[in-house]
Amino acid sequence: MKPIESMPAPDPRNVAHWRADFPILGERVHGRPLVYLDNGATTQKPASVIYAENAFYRHGNANVHRGVHLLSLRATDAYEAARAKIARFIHARRPEEIVFVRGTTEAINLVAQSYARPRLAPGDEILISAMEHHSNIVPWQLVCEQTGAVLKVVPIDDTGALDVVAYEGLLSERTRLVAMTHLANALGSINPVEHIIASAHAKSVPVLLDGAQAISHLPVDVLTLDCDFYAFSGHKVYGPTGIGVLYAKAALLEAMPPWQGGGDMIRSVTFEKTEYNAIPWKFEAGTPNIAGAIALGAALDYVDAIGMEVIAAHEAGVLAYASGALQAIPGLRLIGTAADKASILSFVLDGVHAHDVGTILDRHGVAVRAGHHCAMPVMQRFGVPATVRASLGLYNTREDIDALLEGLAQVGEVFGR
Ligand code: PMP
Repeated sequence: MKPIESMPAPDPRNVAHWRADFPILGERVHGRPLVYLDNGATTQKPASVIYAENAFYRHGNANVHRGVHLLSLRATDAYEAARAKIARFIHARRPEEIVFVRGTTEAINLVAQSYARPRLAPGDEILISAMEHHSNIVPWQLVCEQTGAVLKVVPIDDTGALDVVAYEGLLSERTRLVAMTHLANALGSINPVEHIIASAHAKSVPVLLDGAQAISHLPVDVLTLDCDFYAFSGHKVYGPTGIGVLYAKAALLEAMPPWQGGGDMIRSVTFEKTEYNAIPWKFEAGTPNIAGAIALGAALDYVDAIGMEVIAAHEAGVLAYASGALQAIPGLRLIGTAADKASILSFVLDGVHAHDVGTILDRHGVAVRAGHHCAMPVMQRFGVPATVRASLGLYNTREDIDALLEGLAQVGEVFGR
């Protein structure tokens, strides 16, 4: 029987070599080479990730934690090895602190329902910020409705940066949890998470970080950060959709009741009483996304082989080039200009709806996102219905930005700007 081996590590030399690892970048759209600038929505996958998923189904498919046969044992080993890999990638103390979920959204809902709900009393407060994705707003609204707790929102300034003074003021005796994004998806702002965590901990308030965007752009070290929960999605870090991670400190997971019931999350079941499994399996009811977890492990191997610092430095160069060029376009307004930002270029053009810009760019082969980016309160804060968002990944180059600029010149022609 063939082992589920992985592909050779990527060539870490430079972006041209990285690009060659992503088969989809060879596609053409509307007869033009694809310029993919929608990484904030989802990233493309390197061949090693596609191979890992394919190899699992070709050579190793079986359910985990159940069988005594070789394939099942092997699938279990590969699934648990992926968990250990993820723990190493974000510097968790133990693999048991890694819970596999569908993505960031499910991770935050799990914390809202299993951690927060049993602890919240009427008048207690959950503190979020004005730059959050709906996934880090709505689960808290639901749990507030269920418990009588109150959602408090830290404002942001005109650059899209967190108002840190307001944050300190809003951290109160009633605050039970702080839930903030690490990197804002509609603005690119990087939050001062060390400071956020230190202030919250000084008042014994735990902190959840939404790492959906940060995970592919910044080194993440949950041990040094000392955050209590960290959520991210595999598909935003060059892995597959349908798999994501909730990191939580082991003591918190131990104290939390299961969220969903079913197979795998139990130790024993009778009609009178069910004994739950140990962490993290207590939170993984039902057959998990085994191939997805393994392929996410391959994605993190890929990122590691290049190095997150190398990726961040490359992306910062492209971001600076793009920011300068976009700001020189008359009538273009960048939304999100925080001093500390990464990877996101959100903008509006005078007199042209974002959707029209997105459609013309698409005809030019340039994929961007146009809309509210699941952050409607951010749009309200800046008084715009929608923005155009170009978001970077490790394979983007200045040439991609030049293609974006050419596309925008065409928008200008079409709309007589
Ligand atoms: N939070 C942020 C900051 C995001 O950018 C996203 C995805 N756009 C999410 C949460 C939700 O991620 P998912 O849809 O993968 O659960």
